[in-house]
Amino acid sequence: MKEVADCNIERQDMAAARLTIADHRRDQAGLTYVYPVLSRRARGVSIGINLNQNRACNWACVYCQVENLRRGAPEAIDLDRLENELDGFLREAVQGDYLARHVAQARYRKLADIAFSGEGEPTAAREFPAAVERVAAVLRAHALQGRLPLRLITNGSLIHKKETQAGLALLARAGGQVWFKLDRGDAAGMRAVNRIAGDPARVLKNLRACAALLPTWVQTCWFATEGRAPDAAAEAAYLELLAQAAEVICGVHLYGLARASRQGGAEKLSRLSAPVLRAWGRRIQQKTGVRAVKVSP
Ligand code: SF4
Repeated sequence: MKEVADCNIERQDMAAARLTIADHRRDQAGLTYVYPVLSRRARGVSIGINLNQNRACNWACVYCQVENLRRGAPEAIDLDRLENELDGFLREAVQGDYLARHVAQARYRKLADIAFSGEGEPTAAREFPAAVERVAAVLRAHALQGRLPLRLITNGSLIHKKETQAGLALLARAGGQVWFKLDRGDAAGMRAVNRIAGDPARVLKNLRACAALLPTWVQTCWFATEGRAPDAAAEAAYLELLAQAAEVICGVHLYGLARASRQGGAEKLSRLSAPVLRAWGRRIQQKTGVRAVKVSP
């Protein structure tokens, strides 16, 4: 899937491409596990950690941008390689001139965060806790712990497992936070959007368990299907589920379809207008009492 490069990033590799907001290919730096992307939301370069090299996920969201996504679990992770790649990349980005050479707009020339966010569910990797430990160690070595936000982007489906909770505890110790996917509040909506046998009670339990361990934001993708926005019943189910966790979460990241889905049926999905999404964001806050709703149309 990706070119395997030296763990220390060579100058000629780094000169190959400029980062753009539209292009979130995960092989831009020629590395295996580490991929920089220019993030519109984070307003800078987000360093992704992809633990899902085989593009396998336990979900199959209709809006997923992963090409050739398949169901399954990740392959074994080479933790030494992951650690060396991150160390080399941070050296180039912090002490070298990577940002000046790869980011055209000066206002985006900063590191925004490190995010476990791959081509599948990161917590499905057996090595997830060990990977968190390695990443935290590299951050400490670069004196970036507490200065560069560390995030886990997860669908939250494996939070009940003790291995996942061990990884979350390590993430908490490293000052990390979680973005927990909650797109719909009812089983039918979860089935249609995430293509899982949705169980709202279990999702709520996992969300609350996650928020008890470390700062947790809900992330919600809201869009139209065949020209129709989610209906009143879907809105009510979402609000009802979210309200039961509103007190324990940091807030909601509400976003539209920023990039095209790579899944079958993508042509049926469309973006909602910015005013419609913002109005829905205001209603979420009013009806659930959640602390914050950040909208990215
Ligand atoms: S959980 Fe993430 S990686 Fe998995 S199918 Fe959904 S969007 Fe894609």
